Amino acid sequence: AKNAGRDTLRFYDPQMQAVVSARATLELDMRVGLAQGQFELYYQPQIDHGRITGAEALLRWRHPREGFISPAHFIPLAEETGLILPLGEWVLQAACRRLAAWAQQPDLALLSLAVNVSPRQFHQVSFVAQVLAALAGAGADGHQLKLEMTEGLLLQDVEDTIDKMGQLKGYGVGFSLDDFGTGYSSLSYLKRLPLDQLKIDQSFVRDVLTDPNDAAIARTVVALGTSLGLRVIAEGVETEAQREFLERHHCHAWQGYLLSPPVAVAAFEELVRRTNG
Ligand code: C2E
Ligand code: CA
Ligand code: CA
Ligand code: CA
Repeated sequence: AKNAGRDTLRFYDPQMQAVVSARATLELDMRVGLAQGQFELYYQPQIDHGRITGAEALLRWRHPREGFISPAHFIPLAEETGLILPLGEWVLQAACRRLAAWAQQPDLALLSLAVNVSPRQFHQVSFVAQVLAALAGAGADGHQLKLEMTEGLLLQDVEDTIDKMGQLKGYGVGFSLDDFGTGYSSLSYLKRLPLDQLKIDQSFVRDVLTDPNDAAIARTVVALGTSLGLRVIAEGVETEAQREFLERHHCHAWQGYLLSPPVAVAAFEELVRRTNG
């Protein structure tokens, strides 16, 4: 591909053609997969003072021929093709059904569930109605639902974003800013948006003990969030030393392989009982 620069205006490029048809196949497979129940939510625990207080829901696709396909692979394509709209709606409904089921069990009733929301999904006119319908349809309480959004999403149409967040907050729904520090948020936006939580991106957590810049960023995010009245949670915590660093700097909560990767619901519930019991 290095020498393709000289004649980029070819009408037929077999290599490109292969990429295009692989994407078309993947898109079709996603539609079929959604209809046939091949998607599933996995749950990664979020820990606050040694207790599991909630989970992040992470989408998994069990493809009949390819096996597990990573969301890092199919979410961007789903965004491009618009398939994220039905897929994202399914995620919201599945998450709300899970919350309603937990609410029936005393040892799980207080858990919150965080759902990742993509920009295209959030900026649909019907997004607020969709969330409320998912909550009502399942009989779930909005206070247990958190939505994780990225900086790019929040900045796309700030007035619309603030309006939608405000409406949902009226039903108790919380908002986390995901991947914080990797995008373009300015402090003035942070102040205007009705957020509840900042999430320190895992790229800063990874080398927090060895890279002074990452350590400074992690500390600064905690200080900034705290001074704005927000909770701060770190993601991608893999070692006890990272956890200890974050705790020492008053980070409120964390998630990561150190306790558990995202797991299927039965394993998650078992972990909650064992950890909080
Ligand atoms: P994200 O929201 O930043 O999620 C964190 C990712 O880090 C997850 O990858 C999680 O499995 C992984 N992770 C968790 N703990 C650790 C750790 O200790 N070390 C390392 N190295 N990684 C850790 P995953 O599940 O593959 O998801 C990738 C991305 O796909 C997510 O990034 C999110 O942007 C997107 N995604 C996943 N599920 C959904 C969904 O339901 N809707 C939307 N719109 N996006 C989703
Ligand atoms: Ca997330
Ligand atoms: Ca993240
Ligand atoms: Ca990410």
